[in-house]
Amino acid sequence: MLPSVPMRRWSEAAWDVAATRRTSEKVARLAEYLRSLEPDELPIAVGFLAGRPLTGGTGAGGTGAGGSAQVLGLGWSTIAQAVEAVAGADARALARHYDASSDLGQAVRDLLVGSGHHPAAEPLGLREVRATFERAAKARGPEAKRQAFQDLIARADPQEAMALTKIVGGDMRIGLREGHLEAAIAAAFGRELDDVRWAGMLTGDPADVAVLAREDRLAEARLALFRPLTSMLASPAADAGEVVARLGTPVWVEDKYDGIRAQLHRQAGETRLFSRDLNEVSAAFPDVIAAAAELAWDGILDGELLAWRDGAALPFLDLQARLGRKRPPPTLLASTPVIFVAFDLLAWGPGGAAVEPLLRAPLRDRRLRLEGLDLATRPGFGLSRREQAADAVQLDRLFEDARGRGNEGLMVKDPDSQYAPGRRGYGWLKLKRPLATLDCVVVGVEVGHGKRHGVLSDYTFAVIDDRAGTDEGDAASGWGQQLVTVGKAYSGLTDAELAAMTTWFEEHTLERRGRYRVVEPTMVVEVAFDVVQPSRRHASGFALRFPRIVRLRPDKPAAEADRLSTVAALAARSARAAAIEVVTAGERRVS
Ligand code: AMP
Repeated sequence: MLPSVPMRRWSEAAWDVAATRRTSEKVARLAEYLRSLEPDELPIAVGFLAGRPLTGGTGAGGTGAGGSAQVLGLGWSTIAQAVEAVAGADARALARHYDASSDLGQAVRDLLVGSGHHPAAEPLGLREVRATFERAAKARGPEAKRQAFQDLIARADPQEAMALTKIVGGDMRIGLREGHLEAAIAAAFGRELDDVRWAGMLTGDPADVAVLAREDRLAEARLALFRPLTSMLASPAADAGEVVARLGTPVWVEDKYDGIRAQLHRQAGETRLFSRDLNEVSAAFPDVIAAAAELAWDGILDGELLAWRDGAALPFLDLQARLGRKRPPPTLLASTPVIFVAFDLLAWGPGGAAVEPLLRAPLRDRRLRLEGLDLATRPGFGLSRREQAADAVQLDRLFEDARGRGNEGLMVKDPDSQYAPGRRGYGWLKLKRPLATLDCVVVGVEVGHGKRHGVLSDYTFAVIDDRAGTDEGDAASGWGQQLVTVGKAYSGLTDAELAAMTTWFEEHTLERRGRYRVVEPTMVVEVAFDVVQPSRRHASGFALRFPRIVRLRPDKPAAEADRLSTVAALAARSARAAAIEVVTAGERRVS
């Protein structure tokens, strides 16, 4: 075996990139580092840079998404136990450091530095680290996983321990976007950036791409089925005018379904489903898998899973019951059947031959081929219904129509757009208006994470409990009121507003409980959200889904905040399924 490049060099390269501000400089330094690696270490190093501890090392047919904290099974408490054991610290030590920095990797480093930890004389190698991650992934039970991670930490210096923790967490936070990594790979081995990008799209694995680039085999990159591609995402648009300005006309319009994004892969008679976070979820949807058995082609569909019974969509709450079950019992399958509503075709082949990737074909071609598959006539499947808007006025009319049906909003797509995996580009836009806003009283605040460290940026908010006449009291504030919480949100305020509010909350703190502070219930904020759901977490019995703080209402006395009865009425409205448009069984179906 060749001498292994120490993990230390990798972590130095990563911090070097983090400290470099200019993109071109980041890319150049990274390229130099990649070029210096041994062939078998290149994919490991690239995988780690991408925050994928298990990916790579297998050439063009690698492990795809390949690993995250979830796959490794290394959760917060396992990491804490391992690091505290190495540092000889008590059981709350890591949490205290985390409170000070809001960054787990940094907390690990700080704890080890503080404990005077010395790494082993023999440095850690990349191959060894990778092998230990594999051991952790295969290990059964938290104890064996902890031992594997602890072995690494015991041998690491504090900087390396920070890096190892971040790799396990799947986010290096070194300001390295996938685009930079692709550019560095192209520069390191003198390849065309476009070729590197295309290979990245097909394989979905930067580690494999690095190997192919190094060996000048980028043209051999193939789209591998059963290896999920990252989903194309939509950017939000404020109104029809913005949509038309960005996409031009005409635009294609579909309902924005309130289901679960899924990718269906089919090859040689086998079907598998993957979730948006690239996990396989086939076992959870045996109804869809069984329905797909009839399909006589190979390929990849992009779409949305919806709970659907007797020709109509069921509310999202019903779908949630399915989501919670890795293997749903027959009673649940009968009460809450799920169908796959396709809206895109990413690859296709007649079966028995290689599939053709369609990612670079314009949406209008992909859609034509999708419609040719006749999915709408098959039980268990549907096809998104597509409309066309020639201008902003028509688009507005479609939007109002969708809202009238109680729908969340619309997806608007440029018919000429390519499929951009993992990108929140401007080929697809989403147009949605919040259901309503509520004026809530802030009752608690918390220090934010990452960039928001040191700022009280997470607000817990409440409404006035008006059951049994409890809303009498001090008219000027929330003091005399019975307040019940309905949600928690990162504030969507500007940095200046946040800073001012942090000072205000500092001065109005009633009690500190670790990171959380109970504050005087006098500040009102306007909160937007998508739906109201029943919840056991909050005292009100309800929770706002996707709450966002729209603005501060210092002008509004807390006594005038919204009441629980209003929230209950909104919840009743949310519980009714929106009428959505899906084409099933060969006809347009407005459920
Ligand atoms: P958001 O999750 O708010 O970013 O909205 C994008 C999500 O809307 C996608 O990830 C899909 O899961 C979902 N979606 C619902 N309907 C459609 C549709 N017709 N086309 C594309 N995405 C859709």
